[in-house]
Amino acid sequence: MAGFRSLARQVRDPGCDTALRRYSLRKCLERFAPYGHRATWDHLCRRHRFGPEDRELDPGRLVAALDELEEARAVWLAYEERFAARRRREKHEGLRGLGALDAWHRRVWGGNGVVRCGDPAVHPSDPLPEVLRRLIGALERGPGEACPVCAGPRIEWAGPGDPYDPWLGPVCGDCGVGVPRAVLTSGALARARGDRSRPLASAA
Ligand SMILES: [Zn+2]
Repeated sequence: MAGFRSLARQVRDPGCDTALRRYSLRKCLERFAPYGHRATWDHLCRRHRFGPEDRELDPGRLVAALDELEEARAVWLAYEERFAARRRREKHEGLRGLGALDAWHRRVWGGNGVVRCGDPAVHPSDPLPEVLRRLIGALERGPGEACPVCAGPRIEWAGPGDPYDPWLGPVCGDCGVGVPRAVLTSGALARARGDRSRPLASAA
């Protein structure tokens, strides 16, 4: 299986035909896709103005999309390195890790689905590196009350059958990202769960 870097080289290769370069960009998303594969693709298509079936596609747009994706990946991998180094230090000092946060990091290690968007058409429109910097800021600061990406206060709860399934957890009602539980206070989590149970209770 080709790695991110060799796929990126193909996207930039003027000797490859445009359809292959677009295919390689899409394959890059199997290695790194902060919103999940489909939502990240939708974001890149909209932001760099190309369609999935665009026949007259300007390859420069594919390269611009790749630039954005690569920068976001560098931001995230640098954070993961810092996180891993901190954990090694803490282990050395005999401190136990935070179970839930460690489990979350293991699940998204490498940057897939760190802010998963269950509905591929609903995601932030800001540049990916900026979105990841905001998320990392929130992870390093500790729990807060609002969405770490758009600062929106409407945190909802996705459940079975929602487009976010199997995410099953807090989702921003404004920008659409699945919010890691570690960046929300227990009060914000309880409020989000309450919003979920209210309509179910009234239907019973
Ligand atoms: Zn948001």
